[in-house]
Amino acid sequence: MARVYNFSAGPAVLPEEVLKEAAAEMLDYQGSGQSVMEMSHRSKVFDKIIKDAEQDLRDLLNIPDNYKVLFLQGGAHLQFAMIPMNLMKNKVADYIVTGQWAKRAFKEAQKFGDAKCIASSEDKTFSYIPDCSDLPIDENADYVYICENNTIYGTKFKTLPNTKGKDLVADVSSCFLSEPMDVSKYAVIYGGAQKNIGPAGVVIVIIREDLITEDVLPGTPTMLQYKTHADNDSLYNTPPCYGIYICGKVFKWLKKQGGLEAMKAYNEKKAAILYDFLDQSKLFKGTVEKNSRSLMNVPFVTGDADMDAKFIKEATEAGFVNLKGHRSVGGMRASIYNAMPIEGVEKLVAFMKKFEEENA
Ligand SMILES: *Cc1c(COP(=O)(O)O)cnc(C)c1O
Repeated sequence: MARVYNFSAGPAVLPEEVLKEAAAEMLDYQGSGQSVMEMSHRSKVFDKIIKDAEQDLRDLLNIPDNYKVLFLQGGAHLQFAMIPMNLMKNKVADYIVTGQWAKRAFKEAQKFGDAKCIASSEDKTFSYIPDCSDLPIDENADYVYICENNTIYGTKFKTLPNTKGKDLVADVSSCFLSEPMDVSKYAVIYGGAQKNIGPAGVVIVIIREDLITEDVLPGTPTMLQYKTHADNDSLYNTPPCYGIYICGKVFKWLKKQGGLEAMKAYNEKKAAILYDFLDQSKLFKGTVEKNSRSLMNVPFVTGDADMDAKFIKEATEAGFVNLKGHRSVGGMRASIYNAMPIEGVEKLVAFMKKFEEENA
């Protein structure tokens, strides 16, 4: 068995320990004689899996009691629609557009009301986070929306925007559980699992209870109302059972690593190895303004498309895979999520040094 170092932006690397446990339990989950894939979502065994997953997530993030945790489907993309459908009571919302995912969310919200872009970093290919300390927030805005970590461009909000008292909604798909966060500062936090938590097919929504009401936009389908899922503990219909089970294992693994403070320290150490190298390299350079750098996604270029392609090819052959940048920006991107071991980053940097010497 040869495992590679997988720098994919998502679906992405998972802890090997979790994969091994899941493999060992594949045919017989804890004496049930069934795989988790085969059992009823209404069974006692699965009920414990989903309840434990929720409790472990609550413990990791210190989620206050007045927030619900929902395990849903449809990816981050369906949240682009569910958020306005459920929250746009005044039909006004303010969007901060820091990348392609925020832009898609903004465009989707325009279908349902007056969504405004109040700040953007598109002028410099989304390579920085704009100053959000004093934005023209609409008095009637139902919420202010951000994408907290921009997976494609490698930027991250280091301070949350000043929403002037309005509710904050955040897509945290690619920084979920990478460091502690103060849940009480947000109205809604959501993320697709496939970046930093588990397999594709699960999206986790953490939502303040007072926002879960029947007062949604007319015509909102039953399945797209947060209330439907909140009232039924994410079991209104068949949830993505196997995905939730793997997420639950990752939560337990994170607790074993020491929780999110420990993860943050580990992630900072990993990212510094790569950024420090990029900052002194004569061949490679990072594309993001220093104070906006993500701990999770690190884009870099050589400035020459042919050289980029040569690097990606040789890196792949050496066992460093999925380093190609997003098709919209080119170059390279190393996603170094929680489950990427520090050795993976050290070895990647050693390989980059060698490549630089050979191609000087
Ligand atoms: C990957 C990603 C998305 C899109 O996720 P889907 O699950 O494919 O809908 C949205 N937002 C962010 C921040 C992402 O990283």
